[in-house]
Amino acid sequence: MPTLIGIPFDANSSYMRGAAGAPAKIRESMHCDASNMWSEVGVDVGALGAFADRGDLRLRDENAFAAIEQTIDGSLAEGEQPVSVGGDHSITYPILRALGKRYPDLTIVHFDAHPDLYDEFEGNRLSHACPFARIMEEGLAKKLVQVGIRTMNEHQRTQAKKFGVELVEMQSLPAYDRLKLQGPVYISFDVDVLDPAFAPGVSHREPGGMSVREAIAHLHAIQGRIVGADLVEYNPVRDISGATATVAGKILKEILGKMIAG
Ligand code: MN
Ligand code: MN
Repeated sequence: MPTLIGIPFDANSSYMRGAAGAPAKIRESMHCDASNMWSEVGVDVGALGAFADRGDLRLRDENAFAAIEQTIDGSLAEGEQPVSVGGDHSITYPILRALGKRYPDLTIVHFDAHPDLYDEFEGNRLSHACPFARIMEEGLAKKLVQVGIRTMNEHQRTQAKKFGVELVEMQSLPAYDRLKLQGPVYISFDVDVLDPAFAPGVSHREPGGMSVREAIAHLHAIQGRIVGADLVEYNPVRDISGATATVAGKILKEILGKMIAG
Protein backbone atom coordinates (compact mmCIF):
# COMPACT_ATOMS: atom_id res chain seq x y z
CA MET A 1 0.00 0.00 0.00
CA PRO A 2 1.29 3.52 -0.73
CA THR A 3 2.36 5.01 2.59
CA LEU A 4 3.05 8.67 3.29
CA ILE A 5 6.15 9.54 5.27
CA GLY A 6 6.75 13.19 6.14
CA ILE A 7 10.43 14.18 6.12
CA PRO A 8 10.73 17.69 7.61
CA PHE A 9 14.39 18.23 6.71
CA ASP A 10 16.02 21.17 4.91
CA ALA A 11 19.56 21.34 6.33
CA ASN A 12 21.12 20.59 2.92
CA SER A 13 19.42 23.50 1.14
CA SER A 14 22.02 25.74 -0.48
CA TYR A 15 20.04 28.97 -0.88
CA MET A 16 17.28 29.19 1.71
CA ARG A 17 15.62 26.97 4.26
CA GLY A 18 11.91 26.49 4.84
CA ALA A 19 11.14 23.20 3.03
CA ALA A 20 11.09 21.44 6.42
CA GLY A 21 7.69 23.04 6.98
CA ALA A 22 6.24 21.38 3.88
CA PRO A 23 4.87 17.98 4.99
CA ALA A 24 2.20 19.40 7.31
CA LYS A 25 1.06 21.97 4.75
CA ILE A 26 0.87 19.47 1.87
CA ARG A 27 -1.13 16.97 3.94
CA GLU A 28 -3.49 19.72 5.04
CA SER A 29 -3.93 20.84 1.44
CA MET A 30 -4.62 17.34 0.11
CA HIS A 31 -7.27 16.75 2.77
CA CYS A 32 -8.79 20.24 2.42
CA ASP A 33 -12.58 20.31 1.94
CA ALA A 34 -12.18 22.71 -0.98
CA SER A 35 -11.77 19.62 -3.20
CA ASN A 36 -12.56 15.92 -3.06
CA MET A 37 -10.08 13.05 -2.80
CA TRP A 38 -10.64 11.54 -6.23
CA SER A 39 -7.65 11.34 -8.53
CA GLU A 40 -8.19 12.10 -12.21
CA VAL A 41 -7.25 8.48 -12.99
CA GLY A 42 -10.61 7.54 -11.46
CA VAL A 43 -9.76 6.22 -8.01
CA ASP A 44 -10.84 7.52 -4.62
CA VAL A 45 -7.59 8.27 -2.81
CA GLY A 46 -9.66 9.06 0.29
CA ALA A 47 -11.28 5.59 0.49
CA LEU A 48 -10.54 3.69 3.67
CA GLY A 49 -7.35 1.66 3.19
CA ALA A 50 -6.36 3.32 -0.10
CA PHE A 51 -3.16 4.62 1.45
CA ALA A 52 -1.51 4.78 4.86
CA ASP A 53 0.27 7.61 6.64
CA ARG A 54 3.21 7.09 9.00
CA GLY A 55 3.23 10.76 10.03
CA ASP A 56 6.39 12.85 10.15
CA LEU A 57 9.86 11.67 11.09
CA ARG A 58 11.49 13.35 14.06
CA LEU A 59 14.95 14.18 12.84
CA ARG A 60 18.08 15.75 14.21
CA ASP A 61 20.37 17.18 11.54
CA GLU A 62 23.40 15.04 12.57
CA ASN A 63 21.88 11.61 12.03
CA ALA A 64 19.03 12.50 9.70
CA PHE A 65 20.22 10.49 6.69
CA ALA A 66 20.68 7.30 8.70
CA ALA A 67 17.21 7.74 10.20
CA ILE A 68 15.62 8.34 6.78
CA GLU A 69 17.30 5.26 5.27
CA GLN A 70 16.25 3.13 8.23
CA THR A 71 12.64 4.34 8.06
CA ILE A 72 12.35 3.66 4.33
CA ASP A 73 13.94 0.24 4.82
CA GLY A 74 11.37 -0.53 7.53
CA SER A 75 8.54 0.64 5.29
CA LEU A 76 9.72 -1.61 2.44
CA ALA A 77 10.09 -4.55 4.82
CA GLU A 78 6.38 -4.11 5.66
CA GLY A 79 5.57 -4.40 1.95
CA GLU A 80 4.67 -0.71 1.62
CA GLN A 81 5.38 1.65 -1.25
CA PRO A 82 6.84 4.68 0.58
CA VAL A 83 5.74 8.12 -0.61
CA SER A 84 8.01 10.62 1.08
CA VAL A 85 6.96 14.23 1.47
CA GLY A 86 9.96 16.48 1.99
CA GLY A 87 11.94 18.43 2.73
CA ASP A 88 14.74 19.46 0.43
CA HIS A 89 15.86 17.21 -2.44
CA SER A 90 18.88 15.84 -0.54
CA ILE A 91 16.55 13.30 1.13
CA THR A 92 16.20 11.32 -2.10
CA TYR A 93 19.72 9.91 -1.61
CA PRO A 94 19.07 8.14 1.74
CA ILE A 95 15.64 7.06 0.44
CA LEU A 96 17.30 5.42 -2.58
CA ARG A 97 19.94 3.78 -0.40
CA ALA A 98 17.11 1.73 1.07
CA LEU A 99 15.08 1.36 -2.13
CA GLY A 100 17.92 0.61 -4.54
CA LYS A 101 18.94 -2.44 -2.53
CA ARG A 102 15.51 -3.99 -2.91
CA TYR A 103 14.99 -3.08 -6.56
CA PRO A 104 18.21 -3.67 -8.51
CA ASP A 105 16.53 -2.91 -11.86
CA LEU A 106 14.96 0.36 -10.70
CA THR A 107 14.24 3.30 -13.00
CA ILE A 108 13.96 6.77 -11.45
CA VAL A 109 11.76 9.36 -13.16
CA HIS A 110 12.98 12.70 -11.83
CA PHE A 111 10.91 15.86 -12.42
CA ASP A 112 12.97 19.01 -11.77
CA ALA A 113 14.13 22.34 -13.19
CA HIS A 114 17.60 21.24 -12.03
CA PRO A 115 19.55 18.05 -12.73
CA ASP A 116 20.93 17.92 -9.12
CA LEU A 117 24.03 16.15 -10.42
CA TYR A 118 26.79 18.29 -8.87
CA ASP A 119 29.72 16.29 -7.55
CA GLU A 120 29.72 18.75 -4.66
CA PHE A 121 28.05 22.11 -4.08
CA GLU A 122 29.66 24.80 -1.92
CA GLY A 123 31.71 22.09 -0.25
CA ASN A 124 28.72 19.86 0.56
CA ARG A 125 28.55 16.48 -1.21
CA LEU A 126 25.14 15.85 0.40
CA SER A 127 23.68 19.17 -0.82
CA HIS A 128 20.24 19.20 -2.42
CA ALA A 129 22.18 19.98 -5.63
CA CYS A 130 23.94 16.55 -5.50
CA PRO A 131 21.57 13.64 -4.72
CA PHE A 132 21.53 12.11 -8.19
CA ALA A 133 25.34 12.10 -8.40
CA ARG A 134 25.46 10.06 -5.17
CA ILE A 135 22.65 7.76 -6.31
CA MET A 136 24.25 6.98 -9.68
CA GLU A 137 27.78 6.57 -8.22
CA GLU A 138 26.48 3.95 -5.81
CA GLY A 139 24.51 2.16 -8.51
CA LEU A 140 21.22 2.66 -6.63
CA ALA A 141 19.25 2.90 -9.89
CA LYS A 142 19.66 1.14 -13.21
CA LYS A 143 18.32 4.10 -15.12
CA LEU A 144 17.66 7.79 -14.42
CA VAL A 145 15.24 9.78 -16.60
CA GLN A 146 15.23 13.53 -15.85
CA VAL A 147 12.23 15.53 -17.05
CA GLY A 148 11.76 19.30 -17.26
CA ILE A 149 15.43 20.28 -16.87
CA ARG A 150 16.24 23.90 -17.82
CA THR A 151 19.38 24.86 -15.86
CA MET A 152 21.98 22.52 -17.36
CA ASN A 153 25.59 23.71 -17.12
CA GLU A 154 28.83 22.23 -18.40
CA HIS A 155 29.80 20.38 -15.21
CA GLN A 156 26.40 18.77 -14.85
CA ARG A 157 26.24 17.86 -18.53
CA THR A 158 29.55 16.02 -18.05
CA GLN A 159 28.11 14.28 -15.00
CA ALA A 160 24.95 13.34 -16.92
CA LYS A 161 27.07 11.73 -19.67
CA LYS A 162 29.23 9.92 -17.13
CA PHE A 163 26.19 8.40 -15.44
CA GLY A 164 24.27 7.69 -18.65
CA VAL A 165 21.37 9.93 -17.61
CA GLU A 166 18.43 10.10 -20.03
CA LEU A 167 17.84 13.80 -20.26
CA VAL A 168 14.42 15.15 -21.27
CA GLU A 169 14.98 18.88 -21.19
CA MET A 170 12.08 21.29 -20.77
CA GLN A 171 12.52 22.56 -24.33
CA SER A 172 11.80 19.10 -25.76
CA LEU A 173 8.49 18.47 -23.96
CA PRO A 174 6.01 16.88 -24.29
CA ALA A 175 7.84 13.56 -24.14
CA TYR A 176 5.29 10.94 -23.11
CA ASP A 177 7.04 8.19 -25.09
CA ARG A 178 10.17 8.57 -22.99
CA LEU A 179 8.13 7.50 -19.95
CA LYS A 180 7.08 4.11 -21.29
CA LEU A 181 9.21 2.11 -18.88
CA GLN A 182 9.49 -1.46 -17.76
CA GLY A 183 10.01 -2.86 -14.30
CA PRO A 184 9.96 -0.97 -11.00
CA VAL A 185 9.78 2.83 -11.18
CA TYR A 186 10.49 5.48 -8.55
CA ILE A 187 9.13 9.02 -9.02
CA SER A 188 11.07 11.95 -7.56
CA PHE A 189 9.09 15.16 -8.02
CA ASP A 190 10.76 18.50 -7.27
CA VAL A 191 8.02 21.15 -7.17
CA ASP A 192 10.29 23.64 -8.95
CA VAL A 193 9.84 21.67 -12.19
CA LEU A 194 6.63 23.71 -12.37
CA ASP A 195 6.74 27.24 -13.70
CA PRO A 196 6.89 29.75 -10.82
CA ALA A 197 3.67 31.25 -12.19
CA PHE A 198 1.95 28.03 -11.04
CA ALA A 199 4.14 27.26 -8.05
CA PRO A 200 6.01 30.24 -6.58
CA GLY A 201 6.42 28.49 -3.22
CA VAL A 202 9.87 27.02 -3.89
CA SER A 203 13.36 28.16 -2.91
CA HIS A 204 14.70 28.19 -6.49
CA ARG A 205 12.18 29.81 -8.84
CA GLU A 206 13.11 28.93 -12.42
CA PRO A 207 10.91 30.45 -15.13
CA GLY A 208 9.96 28.57 -18.28
CA GLY A 209 8.70 25.47 -16.52
CA MET A 210 5.77 23.06 -16.72
CA SER A 211 2.18 23.96 -16.14
CA VAL A 212 0.37 21.87 -13.55
CA ARG A 213 -1.50 20.24 -16.45
CA GLU A 214 1.72 19.29 -18.26
CA ALA A 215 3.12 17.80 -15.06
CA ILE A 216 -0.01 15.73 -14.42
CA ALA A 217 -0.09 14.56 -18.05
CA HIS A 218 3.53 13.36 -17.78
CA LEU A 219 2.87 11.68 -14.43
CA HIS A 220 -0.12 9.87 -15.91
CA ALA A 221 1.96 8.82 -18.94
CA ILE A 222 4.45 6.85 -16.82
CA GLN A 223 4.34 3.14 -17.53
CA GLY A 224 5.89 0.59 -15.18
CA ARG A 225 5.23 -0.47 -11.59
CA ILE A 226 5.57 2.50 -9.23
CA VAL A 227 7.25 1.26 -6.06
CA GLY A 228 7.82 4.58 -4.34
CA ALA A 229 7.87 8.33 -4.78
CA ASP A 230 8.88 11.60 -3.23
CA LEU A 231 7.58 15.15 -3.44
CA VAL A 232 10.21 17.68 -2.45
CA GLU A 233 11.26 21.35 -2.34
CA TYR A 234 7.89 22.92 -1.58
CA ASN A 235 8.83 25.90 0.60
CA PRO A 236 5.89 27.37 2.59
CA VAL A 237 8.00 30.46 3.45
CA ARG A 238 7.95 31.43 -0.25
CA ASP A 239 4.30 30.54 -0.89
CA ILE A 240 1.66 33.09 -1.75
CA SER A 241 -1.69 32.57 0.03
CA GLY A 242 -1.10 28.82 0.12
CA ALA A 243 -1.45 28.50 -3.67
CA THR A 244 1.60 26.26 -4.05
CA ALA A 245 0.46 24.04 -1.17
CA THR A 246 -2.74 23.46 -3.15
CA VAL A 247 -0.69 22.53 -6.22
CA ALA A 248 1.58 20.21 -4.21
CA GLY A 249 -1.48 18.57 -2.64
CA LYS A 250 -2.94 17.98 -6.10
CA ILE A 251 0.31 16.47 -7.42
CA LEU A 252 0.49 14.20 -4.36
CA LYS A 253 -3.10 13.08 -4.93
CA GLU A 254 -2.34 12.23 -8.57
CA ILE A 255 0.82 10.29 -7.63
CA LEU A 256 -1.14 8.32 -5.01
CA GLY A 257 -4.04 7.80 -7.44
CA LYS A 258 -1.69 6.38 -10.05
CA MET A 259 -0.08 4.05 -7.51
CA ILE A 260 -3.45 2.86 -6.18
CA ALA A 261 -4.78 2.29 -9.70
CA GLY A 262 -1.68 0.11 -10.35
MN1 MN B 1 15.83 19.09 -7.08
MN1 MN C 1 14.91 21.93 -8.43
